[in-house]
Amino acid sequence: MLNVQNLTKTFSDTTVVNAIDFTVGEKEIFALLGPSGCGKTTTLRLIAGFEKADHGKIELLGQPIGGKGTHVPPEKRGVGFVFQNYALFPHLSVIQNVAFGLKDLPKAKRMKRAEELLEMVRLQDLQHRSPQAMSGGEQQRVALARSMGPNPKLILLDEPFSSLDPELRESTRLEVHKLLKSVKMSAILVTHDTEEALSFADRIAVMRQGQIEQVGTPEEIYHKPETAFVANFLGQSNIIQGIADGRRVQTQLGQLQIESPAFGQVSVSIRPEHLVMETPNGGCVGTVCKRDFKGSDLTYEIDFNDHRCLVQTNYDCPVQVGQSVEVKAVESAVVVQEQT
Ligand code: ATP
Repeated sequence: MLNVQNLTKTFSDTTVVNAIDFTVGEKEIFALLGPSGCGKTTTLRLIAGFEKADHGKIELLGQPIGGKGTHVPPEKRGVGFVFQNYALFPHLSVIQNVAFGLKDLPKAKRMKRAEELLEMVRLQDLQHRSPQAMSGGEQQRVALARSMGPNPKLILLDEPFSSLDPELRESTRLEVHKLLKSVKMSAILVTHDTEEALSFADRIAVMRQGQIEQVGTPEEIYHKPETAFVANFLGQSNIIQGIADGRRVQTQLGQLQIESPAFGQVSVSIRPEHLVMETPNGGCVGTVCKRDFKGSDLTYEIDFNDHRCLVQTNYDCPVQVGQSVEVKAVESAVVVQEQT
């Protein structure tokens, strides 16, 4: 339903969005994930029409809405926007805030529609409150109701949960996800929070320095990273050099299986939870140099003189700092491109 091609935006002499391509499907929740300053919000603002693109095109349901030489005004794009700080009017009640986005409806219908929208986000009982007398999560649900008022085709969510404390963040996230799915709305979420993207999105585009490094489902991005950057951004990972010979690669940790065939010098990624420690038995021996207790699990750092690796175990693993161990893989590694 949304097709973005070769989208490029330069501020002064810095290209902050650099020839990116992606599509968002009907009813799909798509996330733009990446570190601060990588161009996520600028991409969202280009889709919303708050910025003009230098190159490329943006099509919504087959119609060009933005890109080089095309700029449909934001209010005519059929796109809703939810901001990080909710952007509610403090001097208006909740229902007045929602009704404000319904100016195209006759006055009589406006309040009825606003009530329906508040019912949808389960805030009908708080409709006469001031937004300032509500929790952050409730305010964000009001903002979502307001953005859905004009029946947009696509909702854009810019770090919508980042101002909420961790507990409220998770419950609001679940609630908003359920709601978007129940009304079959397509949405794009911008976030730098990996866990949020993994749990909220159907597909994720990982961005770095204005470009998209990889697009895929949360499982693909997590388990089959294509680059060392994606592997490390999505959680801890061991990036190890080796010589591949088809489905196996010879590394400093010994021989590892690899997901898809490769030959010659390669870098592979293997997650700490896919390695185990064993008593030395003729293989490559390392020394435990760090034991990091995380409550539900433990992360160990093993020193092999010329390199270190991380191993994640159950919380009750008895191995202590200073012990000698061998490290074995219990899952296949994935060949990745090194960072450039
Ligand atoms: P964050 O997670 O910190 O919001 P982001 O990935 O959303 O980061 P953007 O807000 O898109 O990143 O910004 C990308 C780069 O573009 C940053 O270096 C930012 O300073 C720069 N930038 C954004 N808007 C403008 C502007 N209007 N003028 C000049 N530079 C800008």
